[in-house]
Amino acid sequence: MAAILIYSDKTKLAFELLNAAQLIGKNTDLTIKAVSINNDEQAEELAAKGAETYKIINPELNLADTGAMASALLQTAEKLDADIVLLSSNRRGKELAGRLAQVFKAGCLTDVKSMQTENGRIECVRNVLGGATVAIQEIISDKKVIAISPKAFPAAADEVGGTINEYVVNIIPSGIKLIETRAKAGDSVDIEAAEILVVVGQGVESQESLPAIMEIAKNLGGEVACSKPVATDKKWFGEERILGLSGKICKPDLAIILGVSGQVQFTVGIRDAKTIVSINNDEKAYMNQMADYVLIADIKEVLPELQKAIG
Ligand SMILES: Cc1cc2nc3c(=O)[nH]c(=O)nc-3n(C[C@H](O)[C@H](O)[C@H](O)COP(=O)(O)OP(=O)(O)OC[C@H]3O[C@@H](n4cnc5c(N)ncnc54)[C@H](O)[C@@H]3O)c2cc1C
Repeated sequence: MAAILIYSDKTKLAFELLNAAQLIGKNTDLTIKAVSINNDEQAEELAAKGAETYKIINPELNLADTGAMASALLQTAEKLDADIVLLSSNRRGKELAGRLAQVFKAGCLTDVKSMQTENGRIECVRNVLGGATVAIQEIISDKKVIAISPKAFPAAADEVGGTINEYVVNIIPSGIKLIETRAKAGDSVDIEAAEILVVVGQGVESQESLPAIMEIAKNLGGEVACSKPVATDKKWFGEERILGLSGKICKPDLAIILGVSGQVQFTVGIRDAKTIVSINNDEKAYMNQMADYVLIADIKEVLPELQKAIG
């Protein structure tokens, strides 16, 4: 029986892929199989979600070597008779998707935001034209690699009946020699996981305002994110805090957006927030059109008031 294979090195994202696979597999005879690589705990957690899990343990297989990882997943897909492989569309997942699709001779779509299935066809919804619009696209080859954006699907629910099977793959050297792995420099904030984001745009004119903004975010139980130029030009934050096309796509419950003009490359990263508050001194700023609440004011004047109320 043909299968859908799911893999992400991030367990939270693997749970989302499992849910997406359940949607595709519904009303078909496709079976769902999950892969975990060098991660016993993840294999157990996937099995606790009811997944038929294949655990590959091989210390020589390094997650950063996406060539060798693609080869490992290809062997697994072939052994398990999987025509569809779901990966997460984070940085590593996107690279892996391209590499796997090439050796698997599959069509490939990344950054998939949602999917609908009809008569065995899988229609994938993706942002196009820099996020200005969405397109519905379908892979027409039999073999498909689909990389799904984080948070596009909720995590699969716990289910009984999961199994863990150990599986051995041949490591095929990829030509990439891994010399060293190091934790990323800078802070390791996860803005995608935050329920509340306070977002710094260029309208925050002075770096001196940042401690107050950090304090407000902390007291709200949230994180600070930023527009791209605040990280790449002003260098006030690391790039892991950028929202948008070149950064992260986030879906917080609340986004308080300070001095952002709202160009499409930014808004694509925040438009799915449940509630958006925009504070901007220009009433015509595009950001305000997307916001649920707008305050036309100077950030310099608003910040002390916000700090009094929340900080
Ligand atoms: C290929 C490509 C990819 C890109 N990817 C991204 C991306 O991923 N993320 C991203 O953010 N950008 C991205 N950009 C850049 C994007 O187009 C915008 O230039 C950027 O988002 C603008 O940042 P900003 O809104 O902070 O600054 P600005 O456009 O300068 O806007 C500042 C805003 O603050 C307001 N303001 C100014 N002073 C005050 C004040 N005292 N009080 C209140 N409001 C004030 C202004 O009215 C204005 O609306 C990309 C661009 C390209 C070409």
